[in-house]
Amino acid sequence: MEIVKKDLQGIEFRFFGPDSVRKLSVMEVSVPELYDQDGFPVEGGLMDPRLGVVDPGMRCRSCGGKVGHCPGHFGHIEFAKPVIHVRFGKKIYMWLSMACPSCGRVAVEKEARDIYEREFQRIDNEGTNSERAKLIRDIAKEAKKHSVCPHCGADKPAITYEKPTTYYQGEDKLTPVEVRENLEKIPDEDLFLLGVDSRAFRPEWAVMTSFLVPPVTVRPCITLETGERSEDDLTHKLVDIMRINLRLRENMASGAPAVIIEDLWELLQYHATTFIDNQVSGIPPARHRAGRILKGVVQRVKTKQGRFRRNLAGKRVNFSARTVVSPDARIGVDEVGIPDEIARDLTVSVYVTDENVEQMKEVIRRGPEALDGANYVIDDQGNRLRITDFNQETLAEQVAPGWMVDRHLKDGDVVLMNRQPSLHRMSLMGHRVRVLPGRTFRIHPSICAPYNADFDGDEMNLHDPQGEEARAEALELLGVRKNLRSPRFGGVIIGGWRTQISGLFLLTQKDTVLSREKAFQLIYDAGIEAELPSSKKEITGREIFSLLLPSDFNIRFKTKASKSGKVGEDDSEVVVKDGKLLKGVIDSSAVGSFGGRILDRIVQEYGPDFGTDFINKLAALGLLYLKMRGMTVSIEDFEIPEETHKEINQTLSKAKREVRNIIKKAEAGKLKSWPGMSMVETRESEIIHTLNKARDEAVRMVGDVLSPSNPAAIMAISGARGNLLNVALIAGAVGQQAIGGGRPKRGYYSSRTFPHFVKHDLGAESKGFVRSSYGSGLNPFEFFWVSASGREGLTDTGVKTPKSGYMYRRLSNALQDLKVEYDGTVRDSGGNIIQFLYGEDGIDVSMSDKGFINLDRLAELARGGDK
Ligand SMILES: [Mg+2]
Ligand SMILES: [Zn+2]
Ligand SMILES: [Zn+2]
Repeated sequence: MEIVKKDLQGIEFRFFGPDSVRKLSVMEVSVPELYDQDGFPVEGGLMDPRLGVVDPGMRCRSCGGKVGHCPGHFGHIEFAKPVIHVRFGKKIYMWLSMACPSCGRVAVEKEARDIYEREFQRIDNEGTNSERAKLIRDIAKEAKKHSVCPHCGADKPAITYEKPTTYYQGEDKLTPVEVRENLEKIPDEDLFLLGVDSRAFRPEWAVMTSFLVPPVTVRPCITLETGERSEDDLTHKLVDIMRINLRLRENMASGAPAVIIEDLWELLQYHATTFIDNQVSGIPPARHRAGRILKGVVQRVKTKQGRFRRNLAGKRVNFSARTVVSPDARIGVDEVGIPDEIARDLTVSVYVTDENVEQMKEVIRRGPEALDGANYVIDDQGNRLRITDFNQETLAEQVAPGWMVDRHLKDGDVVLMNRQPSLHRMSLMGHRVRVLPGRTFRIHPSICAPYNADFDGDEMNLHDPQGEEARAEALELLGVRKNLRSPRFGGVIIGGWRTQISGLFLLTQKDTVLSREKAFQLIYDAGIEAELPSSKKEITGREIFSLLLPSDFNIRFKTKASKSGKVGEDDSEVVVKDGKLLKGVIDSSAVGSFGGRILDRIVQEYGPDFGTDFINKLAALGLLYLKMRGMTVSIEDFEIPEETHKEINQTLSKAKREVRNIIKKAEAGKLKSWPGMSMVETRESEIIHTLNKARDEAVRMVGDVLSPSNPAAIMAISGARGNLLNVALIAGAVGQQAIGGGRPKRGYYSSRTFPHFVKHDLGAESKGFVRSSYGSGLNPFEFFWVSASGREGLTDTGVKTPKSGYMYRRLSNALQDLKVEYDGTVRDSGGNIIQFLYGEDGIDVSMSDKGFINLDRLAELARGGDK
């Protein structure tokens, strides 16, 4: 594709004043009726054929074009009395407050005016838009101050504004006619002080005397199945405007009383306002007969559902599918299982050549219903023919080189998978297809981390790339294999996950030994092709894990498990020598999906293909071993000795006594305030500190008595899922609940949280401390505290998600055209340099070691050291 580049100097928006409106319009709309008895558009009505065509077969009376060729033409309405344009409500208020009602000059003294003029010139040359906006605000503030005009000396009464379109001068309400007259008086020479370009706009245009009627093509009517015609929301609004306008004109002509005229005028204002924007604060939105709120012009454009974000920035696409995801550890991480139903619907276009013509005949013969069939052929004339039961034989006969066949998706095809919100590059990755029975997408559990997917009903989208170029990109740039390491933190992001870690942890513990038969079964099931390391009757788990490692692999590091103090010396340091795991237990710090050391080294030094294979095998090994061994969690696993319970109770009671002491000290005024805190704040902080310390103590005590073979402990220690605090909440005590960043304050009147407590009680129980554990059950107060802080957490996430979502939108919109150029600079689409060196250090983070270049390691490798 040829890229056309043009340099824009700027974009200027202008406003259609009354003259331009009449010039642009092909006709004045003067009849409020749409159709006559026979259902034909009424001449001079809102559906007049001069405004464009929407019915196929009809011709436009203005340009002669048919549907699709005629762009539609504007008409106009002459208002019986002028009407304020809502979108200028605030601006009109500003202009009225700045200008003198008598002479029309902007109330700024000569000297100040000169300064402002120079400042505008400066901003034109070198200033920013926000500087300009600020200057205009400053001038407005200055002009507003004057109660007497500095030019003619006339009184300049203050203007008050009532949203959206009502203005008062002093005590008197201004009609739109008066508003317009005042704005007309402002001379062109003063307009720059209002921030208005006199060549483009006159302030009085904001009070409309004529009104543009959009072409029928932008407000087409829909014919329902019943044959009934349903008009567009804009047409409905225009009919309202027409009716009221006509009645207003008739009443004016017949000399009706001023009240009636005023009422009709206000109604006209209302309809014109809601046509433009039907979500203005201060007035009720216009509704459909059925009660539905009508869509105004603004509503068509604004927000996610509006023209920009829905139809221009994003569109519906073909060749895509969406369904629920479910796990399947027996496919590869870089594969995706696709329901056959979807495989038969999505197609890949194949050129028929001498080489594949026989194969394509087969595919056509299988037809659209069978798997690995085809839906369409395109003959050498470019005609697209649907394959059906009737023609599949004939088409299979006819097909020849030069034709194209839209064949079904089949195993090995490349597709893109996406899970929203797409927060980073790995939210969209290329997978290879596996057509499977069932109705869900099957993904490997190890791919959950980058997609942030789980299987509680998550859905994902699939895109079927159509060109060879797209397929190559999906594989080479977006492919799972090419995205094992994160460009965010420079470590693996795809790897051991949850249960896999628990399994490998148990497999590689010091004393895990398997019989030869079991070991065989395990490595066979896991798809590992290797010889068992010894002819011994028993094989250790570590020997089995070592089968995954390259024979020249060496590494040594402290395990995550060692930090818990729950594993023996032998398990706490991983030592791999020549591809043999000699010491140490495999946990999340070794193969986990956020920077597992062994996994990371393997991906970096043995390449993505070896890395992917390694991930597949370790997942299989971990899961299969766990299946073989068995692991369950029950309530029993959270029982702790009576002794520990007593100790925990003592600790908590002691803490509560300390809290009483703090309160007493504070009441006696003897509590020393912490720096920057009041006495009350200090008291609260000390109480929370004391109670949290006691809870931590309880957590420690639970941790101490927890057996390393406890399943919950295994998960926590290995980093598979959860931590010891989760166990302590169930077995020990839940602890202090925070609401609004501190202990709960409000409740039963202002003196206490519940009527069941003594007035002004500051003790632990009445202020959100939960002494019980989830295992033992909570009392009603405790249950309330936990629920309240839980609700707060839920509310916070509900508030934060859209906020951070919007921040992300702004950021990605601002950065989306930046790319690294041939010379290493980061540039935007205009070729402007944003950074001279990518990230200012030129490092591709996904290729780095946590964002850095590990020179020591490189030197080691260069010296021919161990891999
Ligand atoms: Mg979910
Ligand atoms: Zn036309
Ligand atoms: Zn004046």
